[in-house]
Amino acid sequence: MSALEPSAGRCVDCLYPLEKGKIAVVGKRRRVCYSCATVREQLMLRTARRYTAYLSIDGSRLTTWIGNPLARVLTTKTARVGFADVRGRRPERWYLMAIDDWDHSWLAISPGPGMYARMRRAAPRKPLRKRAP
Ligand SMILES: [Zn+2]
Repeated sequence: MSALEPSAGRCVDCLYPLEKGKIAVVGKRRRVCYSCATVREQLMLRTARRYTAYLSIDGSRLTTWIGNPLARVLTTKTARVGFADVRGRRPERWYLMAIDDWDHSWLAISPGPGMYARMRRAAPRKPLRKRAP
């Protein structure tokens, strides 16, 4: 085995030895470290129309499942939707607008902080049009 060939215990992206408990599986027998998994997710987000992320506990960021940031939350609205549970409470849903590092706008729906968030690419921001004189 050459020095550059990834062995079973090495990240296929950066080739550093994998740390136990900090391994992400990206394909059949292909494993990467957490920092490379984050880079992969950020690159996927660059071209994705839809993406599934997580809403951070403080509600300020959309993150990878490891907790590394993907987008910054700009606005949040919550609503009670669907059928009531046995205590008569309807589940809460969070509606978010967020912006990622590539300056793309996203709309996201989540059950709340610490839970998944389904992201959808928002229409690009239109430049302000000057009114005709
Ligand atoms: Zn790596």
